[in-house]
Amino acid sequence: MPESIGFIGLGIMGQPMALNLIKAGHQLAVYNRTAAKAAALQAAGARVVSSPADAARDANVVMMIVSDSAAVEEVVAGKGGILESLRAGALVIDSSTISPTVSRKMACLVAGKGASWLDAPVTGSKHGAEKGELTFMMGGDRAAFDRALPILQVLGKKHIYCGSHGLGLSAKLAQNTIQATLLEVFCEGFVLATKAGVRPETMLEIIQSSLARAALTDFKAPFIFKGDFTPYFPLKLMHKDLELAAEAGYAQGVPMPALAAVKEVYMAAKAQGKGDLDYAAIVTFLEELAGVKVRT
Ligand code: NAP
Repeated sequence: MPESIGFIGLGIMGQPMALNLIKAGHQLAVYNRTAAKAAALQAAGARVVSSPADAARDANVVMMIVSDSAAVEEVVAGKGGILESLRAGALVIDSSTISPTVSRKMACLVAGKGASWLDAPVTGSKHGAEKGELTFMMGGDRAAFDRALPILQVLGKKHIYCGSHGLGLSAKLAQNTIQATLLEVFCEGFVLATKAGVRPETMLEIIQSSLARAALTDFKAPFIFKGDFTPYFPLKLMHKDLELAAEAGYAQGVPMPALAAVKEVYMAAKAQGKGDLDYAAIVTFLEELAGVKVRT
């Protein structure tokens, strides 16, 4: 059934997600802070509005995917935020990767308006968003999850209910801890092998024949070998997720020694000005230290 959806955040992820919702027949009112990014959506039939509050005004469902916790707080509770117009009974789906604590606070604010909130972070990156093949991990009331499902089935192939508010995000932070660490260690290994004189293609053939093979590194290796760091997932956002995971570790009393080290590698690469590149650009930080390039 077509829904009236307010969609906020048309970045790398939000743009293709919103387009897929339009293609599926939903009515969209879209908002992006930088208005120019809404042009493709307007051409596809969306109504472009000038604040999150305008996006939420006539919507049964509000969906957002913005950078970080501060952005979500602004979109929800800032001037012109959705709280100014949110309908009682509406459902708010937040796919941004943010602090579970901030997300729970947003859930309370939205509940004060008689609406429901789901944390629904995603994995699958830009190509998953374009193909409608994201994986969603969700926290909130089961009834809100059931209500969101038909909409999110347009955007993803897997929808996993994790439990109460914030648990979708807790799962997401754990997943990105694994993903960021895996890629960093892959890059360290390849820098080591290349410096010794093993060709990167040869090293990849070995990894792909071993238990160290991973879908992530199969996907990223060709980009690393070409030195193509066009952002699918910007390095600064991966660093943000590692900061959030470290905070969660401290709060829960969970020691995460590998995360502590890897987070600093992402921080160093970000400090060098690589934050807007894809997170695979951490290889260049390691390459510069070792004086070698992993290229074919
Ligand atoms: P992006 O391309 O940088 O887009 C960020 C979006 O947030 C833009 O629309 C930006 O607006 C908006 N924004 C930032 N601050 C704002 C504020 N204060 N008020 C209103 N809007 C604001 O990032 P992305 O890759 O789409 O990622 C979005 C979220 O999804 C992040 O939380 C990220 O961690 C998560 N995520 C990303 C991927 C991925 O592979 N890219 C995968 C899974 C999850 P402007 O256009 O005005 O800057």
